[in-house]
Amino acid sequence: GEGFKIAMKGLDGGRINIACCSVGAAQGALAQAQAHLHARRQFGKSLASFQALQFKLADMATELVAARQMVRLAASKLDAGARDASTYCAMAKRFATDAGFMVCNEALQLHGGYGYIREYPLERLMRDARVHQILEGTNEIMRVIIARRMLEADAPDVIR
Ligand SMILES: Cc1cc2nc3c(=O)[nH]c(=O)nc-3n(C[C@H](O)[C@H](O)[C@H](O)COP(=O)(O)OP(=O)(O)OC[C@H]3O[C@@H](n4cnc5c(N)ncnc54)[C@H](O)[C@@H]3O)c2cc1C
Repeated sequence: GEGFKIAMKGLDGGRINIACCSVGAAQGALAQAQAHLHARRQFGKSLASFQALQFKLADMATELVAARQMVRLAASKLDAGARDASTYCAMAKRFATDAGFMVCNEALQLHGGYGYIREYPLERLMRDARVHQILEGTNEIMRVIIARRMLEADAPDVIR
């Protein structure tokens, strides 16, 4: 009678795995976007000189670092066998895959039309990142897991 519980526990590590894939895709996309902002010129200036685009880059970097830290926290809880590891794995998966998709999508936008075509790597990174919000339990189901735990009578201090 323990099979379902054991199978569900296996998903914790899988969620860290998918979250890491998103962080990696986002890191690759951000590096591509940084290089492109310097390489591409429009209106007589490099794209890197436009503050609206600089702000995008700043937000992408911030989301990426926050996602990476959250995945590391969840992974350390999983390694330690912490009681709240499943909740943190769900939070990390939800956050990192949403952040990963946002970063890849913004990196594609920063490439303009080049971002959309296969000659550049952004379209693949974005397609790959999109499925991370679905795989290993959708992000809606991650919210179900987190909220269910937070509403239990002995809810842990997950937000400390
Ligand atoms: C490329 C790819 C590879 C895959 N690889 C594997 C694999 O190796 N092994 C494996 O077992 N599975 C695999 N899957 C399946 C994947 O895990 C499921 O697609 C995923 O869990 C979502 O289930 P579903 O497609 O049945 O969506 P559904 O359950 O039909 O969900 C449809 C929508 O409704 C939402 N929804 C459903 N229930 C609720 C609820 N209670 N509350 C709120 N929203 C809800 C979902 O979040 C989603 O947005 C893979 C899928 C893809 C696309």
